[in-house]
Parts: sequence; structure tokens; C-alpha cells
Amino acid sequence: MSGGRITGPEIERLIQLLARLPGLGPRSARRAALHLIKKKDQLLGPLAEAMQVALDEVRVCSTCGNIDTADPCFICADPRRDPTIIVVVEDVADLWALERAAAVSARYHVLGGSLSPLDGVGPDDLNVAGLIERARDPAVTEIVLAVNATVEGQTTAHYVTDQLAGAAVKVSQLAHGVPVGGELDYLDDGTLAAAIRSRTEF
Ligand code: ZN
Repeated sequence: MSGGRITGPEIERLIQLLARLPGLGPRSARRAALHLIKKKDQLLGPLAEAMQVALDEVRVCSTCGNIDTADPCFICADPRRDPTIIVVVEDVADLWALERAAAVSARYHVLGGSLSPLDGVGPDDLNVAGLIERARDPAVTEIVLAVNATVEGQTTAHYVTDQLAGAAVKVSQLAHGVPVGGELDYLDDGTLAAAIRSRTEF
């Protein structure tokens, strides 16, 4: 027997929903479902509660586009953050990556994607208007474009820079180069070429 249903409809539904998560295929979803059910008290219950809280309380920050249970989000509301810098990212995942690295103590602006004509993503689909408005705040002196080093990311960076032309802010972007701990021989040609172009004084 193969391909048929292996559980009742309720558990089958749990498996099907888990299989939609990024990184989980049907096989991993079955394993995850079984694990959750076996750990009902330690895992399934707390997870269900956490998901309910997320469902009820998580919202998008109306200032920066981050997600939190408060609006403005905890980052926008944090008085210790440098008010002069706004770091522009494509997605909340990028904001989380920068926060994990404790790279900068500034505030962010989440565009909600990158310009991609092939995928039908145009300027109106991104939160650029909100950024232009924030950049007019006299306290803001620098906009850091922390977008992906992809064609879409760079297209987006050019567009945003054009839109910011009237604002009295410096626009900077992330350096492209050799990763920390990286060996030149292992780098792809594009990274190596970008690293040479953006060399700095020793
Ligand atoms: Zn915010």
C-alpha cells in the first residue's frame, strides 16, 4: 500500500498544514506532527497557545513595517536607538538577521520585498512612501540600504535612492566583499570582483 491516507482526517490536516511551512516537505511534516503529538504537554500545548497569541496580537508596525505585538514596535519605541539612522531592509527576516548580529543600534524600514518586474512587483507594492516621509524628519541624517546583493535588491536600491533625492540625507549601502573568515579561492567570481571594486585603505 502506498499513497493512501495513513491517519484520520484531523491528523492528516495537521500534517498538510505543517508541510506548507518553508523547509518542511511532506516527510518532515509527518515526523513533526508525530513529534508534536507525542510531546503533547511539553510542546503541542505551548505551541498552540503561542500560535493563538500570535494570531490575536501580532501586528505590523505602522512606522517601520516590523512585526510585533505593539504598534509602534519595540524597536521604534526604544529611546536608546540612534535616531539619525534608518536601515532599509527588504523583509522582516533581514531585520532579524541584523538584530541577531547586533550590527547596528538604529531603527529600520521594511520595504516588504524588492522590485521585480518579472514577478509583477512594482514600486507601489513596496513601502517606499513611508520611507520618504520618515527621511524628511530633520533628526534623520543617513539612510542605509541594507538590501540583498541581487539584481532585484540593487534595482530597488537605485529606485529608493532616486526617490530620496529631495531629502537632506546621506544614502549609503552595505559593502559587498569577502565574508569574515572567507578564503578567496572559494569565493564566487561576482563576490570577488565586488570586493576588489570596493577595496578600502589598509
Ligand atoms: Zn517599528
